[in-house]
Amino acid sequence: MAKPRVGISACLLGRNTRYDGRAKGAPELIAALAPDVEWVPLCPETDAGLGVPRPPMDLYRLADGRIAAITPEGHDCTPQLDAWIAATLPALRRGGLDGAILKARSPSCAIGTALLHDGVPGQNGNPGLATYSASAGEGAPKSVGGTASDGASAPGVFCDGLFAAALKRDIPELSLAEDEDLRSAAQRELFLARLRVHQRLRRDRRWLLVILALLLALLAFMLSSPALSRYLPPCPLHYLSHGRLTCPGCGFTRGWQALLAGDWRGAGVYHPFAFRLLPLLALVALGHGLLCRWQRRRWPWSQWLWTALGAWLAAWLLTLRG
Ligand code: SF4
Repeated sequence: MAKPRVGISACLLGRNTRYDGRAKGAPELIAALAPDVEWVPLCPETDAGLGVPRPPMDLYRLADGRIAAITPEGHDCTPQLDAWIAATLPALRRGGLDGAILKARSPSCAIGTALLHDGVPGQNGNPGLATYSASAGEGAPKSVGGTASDGASAPGVFCDGLFAAALKRDIPELSLAEDEDLRSAAQRELFLARLRVHQRLRRDRRWLLVILALLLALLAFMLSSPALSRYLPPCPLHYLSHGRLTCPGCGFTRGWQALLAGDWRGAGVYHPFAFRLLPLLALVALGHGLLCRWQRRRWPWSQWLWTALGAWLAAWLLTLRG
């Protein structure tokens, strides 16, 4: 049986991909999960061509709000990393990934534990060349004005590494964990369960979509005929409150029937969304497509769906008030 596919920071697998040419293996974690998953090793920094060994880098919030990965010498590695991320994410999405285990505190891989500085290296008390040493953590400053150190316990602001942030933004349904989140057997079991659910949904998605399309077609067919729509179940809220309360979907059937009969005004009276739903959805889909193309990134649909749901509920509350 196919196993869930899990992206993993290559250094955790014991590969010598870190800036200092060493690995940061997690043998216990790898041994525990290896029988149940298929690894997809990734190293954003070496795969982007930054080389091994390479200068360590840290994350800085620049004056324009961007977060950049900069070496102590001031070299901005962000364009190189961004180019690799933009080329890799579509392939990961197509190849089918169920989750990822990423290295804590890395400026590329961390999930919320990468130290974030304000400004640029050598300014605002930020670390410069002299503050790094070969024994530092993944791109971690040894000491910055007494506030930063190699570890999540240091006071300061932390954020996602550049690759982890892109992964969250572009494939939001993925299960993500840092190596340090999976120390106990219980944590690993829970993570594995999430991976298996994702794998099942990914595998069965085509069938689910076919079933959903068939159900929608059947519903549309029943709605198109007053004779058939008699067989649709009554609204439970309307029924149980003896007609005193309506639900957010009440009036939708009659609205659609009016719409199909060419009575646009009547459709709007029965249910505001019956009249406006299709053009609204078409506009949302068009806007979504244009935004993704313009920004060259994939925006999650969830934002639009929540907005549409909010508008629907607001329309329902207005009908209740009336
Ligand atoms: S933490 Fe990420 S970027 Fe750094 S060596 Fe490991 S895989 Fe590569």
